[in-house]
Amino acid sequence: MKTFIKNILLIGLVMFLAQHFRPEIKTAISNLRYQYFPCTQTVYYSIGSFDQRFDLTEEELKEYLKEAEDKWDAASGKNLLEYREGSDFKINMVYDKRQETTDALEDLGSGLDQSKADYDVMKSAYEAKFTVYQKSRKSFEASWANYQKKNQEYNKQVSYWNAQGGAPESEYDKLDAIKRELRQEGEVLLRTQEALNVETNSVNKMVGELNALAQDLNLDVVAYNEVGSKQESEFEEGKYYRGPEGEWIDVYQFENLTKLRRVLAHEFGHALGLEHVDDKDAIMYLLNTSENENLSAGDLEELARVCEKKF
Ligand SMILES: [Zn+2]
Repeated sequence: MKTFIKNILLIGLVMFLAQHFRPEIKTAISNLRYQYFPCTQTVYYSIGSFDQRFDLTEEELKEYLKEAEDKWDAASGKNLLEYREGSDFKINMVYDKRQETTDALEDLGSGLDQSKADYDVMKSAYEAKFTVYQKSRKSFEASWANYQKKNQEYNKQVSYWNAQGGAPESEYDKLDAIKRELRQEGEVLLRTQEALNVETNSVNKMVGELNALAQDLNLDVVAYNEVGSKQESEFEEGKYYRGPEGEWIDVYQFENLTKLRRVLAHEFGHALGLEHVDDKDAIMYLLNTSENENLSAGDLEELARVCEKKF
């Protein structure tokens, strides 16, 4: 009975240890792989957790992983990486603050484009309106100057005949006709001026709206820059991890598909044992700032260094 319990305990302990050390044994094996057998064995990976909030399907991710994998396979002439359902090396899409920031930026960016488009439409409407307004104003000013000249001429005539003690009947009728004409013309000018005042107000209001919109746009630009400055430009979009708990790649964010392709190829590079290189266009450069999607000279050198004995 005693032995039985002891055995059970022992089996339990062995099982516990086996469970407990299982990842570490795996890690030790995978570390050996990197240290002593680089570029000799295919590294199998599969998709682990996949957050649906990314603008991406699992099928698409698989495609991009295949593209990233092909870069290293083609350069080495070996099957260094391959997708295998259920394999322990997981690629995880982890949605957190980083992608939230990227998405927020994108929304702000398109909002900015919309406001800018609104502003441009409003500005050209204003410019068209202002051209018409300026034309009517100029024409009014010319008519007004002409009217004043005629009015002065009339007043001069009236003063002259008054000084003569009155105009003869023919002259009086002529002057009376001019007077009626002037009054009529004056009334038209007055109405034109009123209409022009309404136009002036409307143009001024439009200028005010345009300025307010421009100010809003500036505010948006500031907000955009603030969110943007919080973003890291390092290969913080993803992380390759190898340690006691196992081996995996977490991808946290991507701005566009070029960046996603680059981050996948970069983390795969780490999985193959590659370090960062100095070449700015390299996939293995520390920062994900380049748009280059192909392995650079620096990447190939680093791959050759890691796989040295094997090529
Ligand atoms: Zn890195």
